[in-house]
Amino acid sequence: MNQYSLSEWQQKAAALKLEGRAWIGGAYSDAENNATLTSINPANNNKLIDIADCSEADVERAVGFARAALDSGDWSQLAPAKRRKVLERLADLVAEHAEELALLECIDMGKPIADALAFDIPETEHCLRFYAGAIETHTDEVLPTESHVLATVTREPVGVVAAVVPWNFPLMICCWKLAPALATGNSVIIKPAEQSSLSAIRLAGLAAQAGIPAGVFQVLPGQGQVTGQALGLHTDVDCLTFTGSTQTGKRFMAYSAESNLKRVWLECGGKSPQIIFSNCQQLERAAAAAAAAIFINQGEVCIAASRLYVEDDIYEQFLQLLLKEAKQYQPGDPLDPQSRAGAMVDQLQFDRVVSGVNEAIAAGARKLTDAPLIVNQSQGWYLNPTVLECDSNNNPLMREELFGPVLGVCRFSGEDQVIALANDSVYGLGAGIWTDNLGQAHRVSHQLHAGMVWVNSYADGAITVPFGGRKQSGFGRDKSIHALDKYTDLKSTWIDLSH
Ligand code: NAD
Repeated sequence: MNQYSLSEWQQKAAALKLEGRAWIGGAYSDAENNATLTSINPANNNKLIDIADCSEADVERAVGFARAALDSGDWSQLAPAKRRKVLERLADLVAEHAEELALLECIDMGKPIADALAFDIPETEHCLRFYAGAIETHTDEVLPTESHVLATVTREPVGVVAAVVPWNFPLMICCWKLAPALATGNSVIIKPAEQSSLSAIRLAGLAAQAGIPAGVFQVLPGQGQVTGQALGLHTDVDCLTFTGSTQTGKRFMAYSAESNLKRVWLECGGKSPQIIFSNCQQLERAAAAAAAAIFINQGEVCIAASRLYVEDDIYEQFLQLLLKEAKQYQPGDPLDPQSRAGAMVDQLQFDRVVSGVNEAIAAGARKLTDAPLIVNQSQGWYLNPTVLECDSNNNPLMREELFGPVLGVCRFSGEDQVIALANDSVYGLGAGIWTDNLGQAHRVSHQLHAGMVWVNSYADGAITVPFGGRKQSGFGRDKSIHALDKYTDLKSTWIDLSH
């Protein structure tokens, strides 16, 4: 890991050559009528660059290229071993450009450079490598039937896949969709979030360098309600894979119903609970994990454990430990390698969190952290880590996703009560349990309505393990070998052997 100082990172950021155009049909391209959106650095509110604001006409053009590429077979019919080589080359290029890509994430969405370098970019590279390798292990089937018949089940690419992605881990989540979809031979169109399009745009250039044919991978920056909606409604898009808010996820179900019944995969919001039982012997470790679980990436994390339930007997003791840990996440310049938290992605998200906190306090929540929520004397959108004590799940803070560095804490008494509290949510993404009782760990984990449960840790992850939720957190899974199924169709072929 490099050891640059803040001023060295600032110089590197200033020297970046930014690209804001779409990538359509194998070339950078302006949007129709040269329409643009402004990309802002949330750390100082300065303009970075204009990015293409793609219209329905641009979507039409890109879908045409994607379909033509698919039909040509240049990628969709390429031998898996050859596809593997190209994806591995792309992973190599991501590694070679790690510093540049990390800087793009940092200046575009406000995350700390240290996190982008240590997490976002290596995870992106690993994801590409994993699916490159996985494609040669994804086998077809011959199934038992009557003896005069041979029945095979082969996997085929779904076709044109559109991926609409959020701004919180821009490149990594883009590749959670892109890598398995490309590995299985599809043509993929990425619609990055308005707030953080630069890394996906850059990746397109690297993908071409790696040898991905024109039309197989395209990037259309633009507004959700225009570009995203046009992809969702397009009758020649076969699959729409989405990560973002539950509200937008519901729109994609409707778009599919109103158009061609394209398959839709949703990874949506969360309000994940974390439970600290009084028999937990490692309270310091649990407090450090509870703080990291909500304050990393400014709380802009779908699996953020934003609801904390602490058992009566240890409540006061645990809160003291937690408040000490929270102080470590005071935000700083995202380019400062010492910063453990950066700036909120934009004013809209900043305002949303501030009004959510005001609403929680008006409903009776008590603020436990000393520092004011808003960091003053700054041009950027900075918020301090904030802990609020709530009496029950009735407080809106315990129900609504804020997507910011704000933790709601509530005390509980006994296993049954906390299981009911934890499951009392429209979401079901992640959940954490801290206990030294093995039976309790299994019992509670089994009863929690969540796609992922962590016991005596929080947010561990590996590309080999599925990621996703239940209820209004969505369905389908990113990561792991299972994600390949999302981007393939099964074909059953019957061959009569009797003649
Ligand atoms: P968002 O739903 O506002 O936007 C996500 C994407 O959808 C963006 O590209 C946006 O342009 C597009 N979009 C917005 N409105 C649209 C519309 N009407 N039609 C078509 N496309 C539209 O979400 P966000 O604010 O970017 O991201 C934050 C949300 O994402 C949070 O709810 C968070 O929990 C969720 N998230 C979930 C996961 C997961 O894996 N479950 C991971 C990261 C983020």
